[in-house]
Parts: sequence; structure tokens; C-alpha cells
Amino acid sequence: MGTVTETEIVPFSVPYFAGNELDSLAKVVSSSHTQGDGPFTRSATQQLKQITGSPGNILLTTSCSHALDMSLQLLGVGPGDEVIVPSYNFPSAGNSVALRGAHCVFVDCDPHSGNVDPEHVIAASNSRTKAVIVMHYAGVPVVLEPILAYASGHGMAVIEDAAHGLGVQTTVGTLGTRGTFGAFSFHASKNLQCGEGGALLVNDPRYELPAEIVREKGTNRSQFIRGEVDKYTWIGRGSSYLPSEYNAAVLDAQLGAFDDIQRMREAIWNRYSTALADWAAEQEVELMQPHLEIHASHMFYLLTPTWDAQGELISHLRSRGVCATFHYQPLHSSPAGVQWGQPFGDLTHSTNFAHRVVRLPLWAGMSESQVERVIDAVVSWRVAS
Ligand SMILES: *Cc1c(COP(=O)(O)O)cnc(C)c1O
Repeated sequence: MGTVTETEIVPFSVPYFAGNELDSLAKVVSSSHTQGDGPFTRSATQQLKQITGSPGNILLTTSCSHALDMSLQLLGVGPGDEVIVPSYNFPSAGNSVALRGAHCVFVDCDPHSGNVDPEHVIAASNSRTKAVIVMHYAGVPVVLEPILAYASGHGMAVIEDAAHGLGVQTTVGTLGTRGTFGAFSFHASKNLQCGEGGALLVNDPRYELPAEIVREKGTNRSQFIRGEVDKYTWIGRGSSYLPSEYNAAVLDAQLGAFDDIQRMREAIWNRYSTALADWAAEQEVELMQPHLEIHASHMFYLLTPTWDAQGELISHLRSRGVCATFHYQPLHSSPAGVQWGQPFGDLTHSTNFAHRVVRLPLWAGMSESQVERVIDAVVSWRVAS
């Protein structure tokens, strides 16, 4: 005894199933419609419209990465153009810029939320800047007002990567609905998942038709399906960004359970926040935004007092069978980021955040005893003196 057995390990994340996914998949299998744009695509899209309150067009996509790629293609971003990208970020945003042959300008974040600093976005922009891709880290809303105001006066598009923040409402609108485009992910690791999948919110009506064409291999097939044209043909550049009905069916089932899933995640988030508060104060650990009410319960993170403490805490938790992890490596110092971009300023907050952040296990369906095991393991750790 004394060692942790496989079954006792608390994993970092487990995909949640609402229970009706198999029924939906069976309907797809027994129907003749397995490619995209069938009844489940329509139903999932409708549910997404309700959850986001989006007045614009919503297109299911094969991933959030593809939704970002589509956005930059639709904006006509190309060689010689610059796109502002937060350095503390998942690689998809940088990659979408590099795929267009354009240049990333990496900007710093707020030291507490990890969200992009609007002042840096404005300071980093110039006449070559075509767009900024903001990312609502952990579903905590980025301060968008100054960015949107500046962007509209300077012909700069704003793309919201809301992969962590489906359905998060602010007083001025739901995440993903305020930029020119919004992007969501339904990857296995997200609050709602269909294995691999995403969505593009097209909030500017000028891009509605072009977005359909880009998604449908450069054809006007979507118009053909609606009966708006009597045959379809190749009319532009695009690719195959439309998910199959299998993915849409699973997503549709998950969307139907959205409120339940969010409630389960919120309960765990709140339990961590309360149970770890005293320990955090003693150890000079900063818990995720305890003063901010608005987030997606996508993750619970904390910031260790030193860089060394990050690895020490993660190892301590591992030794107690709890899988906690660090998060993004700043893009400006990654091999591809060095090749396809340049840092704006010294980006100390992004580097510091990356070296201090520890994320705790959190998924819908996590048992109370698993949550308590995580809490016990965390509070048994002391920062080395
Ligand atoms: C998961 C994630 C992505 C990528 O999503 P995919 O659907 O896997 O392409 C992009 N941005 C952020 C912030 C993410 O968390």
C-alpha cells in the first residue's frame, strides 16, 4: 500500500456525455444524411444562436482553429499584413496568421487574468495592422470596449476566440458576438464537446455569404441547398470546414444539456474557490480572479508565488494522484512564434503568467470525493521557504 493505484488517480479532464448522444448518432446512422448541413447541423446551430444570443450568422466548423483560419481568409489578410495576437495563448491564433503569410505581433496580457491588455493592442497597431485576435481566457471577458472603439476608427477587424467562454454574458453582449467574427471550440477538452468541432460567428453581414463559400470548398452549395440558385459551382477559394452530421449530432445533444453542464462545472469552481481561499492567502498564491464574477467555469487556475513553485506544486499533486497542469507557453518565445512574428515590448506578464499558472482538474461529472481529494492535496502543499 501507500502507492497510488490507477483507479485512484484524479485525471485532469474527462469528456462529459449528457446521455442522449447515442440516440442522436443512431438517427444519423439510420438516415441517409451523414454529411454536414443536415437536421442536426440545423438544430445545433439554432441552439447556439439561443445560447449566444447572436444576431449574426452561425456556422458550425470542423474546429475553432478552422474558424480562425476562415476569419483571416475572409478578411483578406495576406503577406505584408500584421495581426495582433496575445502571446499568452493557444497556438491556433498565431497559426492562422502564419498560414496567410502574414506577420504576428505578440502583445502582453494583464498579470492577473491572462487576458490581453487593451492598451498594448492599441499601442502595437499601425497602418499594416489588419486585425486583432483576442482570446477570453478561462471565459473571463476581455475588456473589449477600447479595442472595438479603436478598431472601428482604424479599419482593423476584431476576432474573438471564445473557445473557453461559450454562453458567457456581459452587460454589453455575449462572448463571441461583438467582434467581426467569434470562434468557438467543441474539442474534447472544452465545456461542450463533440470530439473535434467548432463554430464561427459571423457578426458582420458583409461576410455572411463569403463565409458560407469558404466553408463549402469555395462553392455556393449552401445557397443551392436553400434553393437560392439552381446549380452550384466553384466561385472562390475555400476548403472543407463543414463538420459531418455525426459531429453535429453529438454537439446537438450536448447543447441540449448546456445549462446542466454549466451548473455542474460552476459548483466545482465555487467549491475550489471557497475551500482554497485561506490556504492561498497563507501561501501567497493568487487564486483565479476571485473578485470577478463572470467566467465560464471552464477552468480553475491559480498563480504560484514563484516560478519554481509551479513545478513543485504540480509534482506534489502528482505524488498524491492528482493530475494538475501548467498552461500555454508564450507564443512570442515559441519556435514558430519567433519565425512568424515579433514581440511588442518585453511581454513580462505573459512569461510570468505562463511560469506561475497551475490548473486544477475540473470537468462536469467530477465526483465530490474527487473534488475533495484535489482540495486535500492542494492544501497539504507549502511553498518552500
Ligand atoms: C482549444 C482551443 C483552441 C483550438 O480549438 P480546436 O477546436 O481544437 O481547433 C483555440 N483557442 C483556444 C483558446 C482554445 O482553448
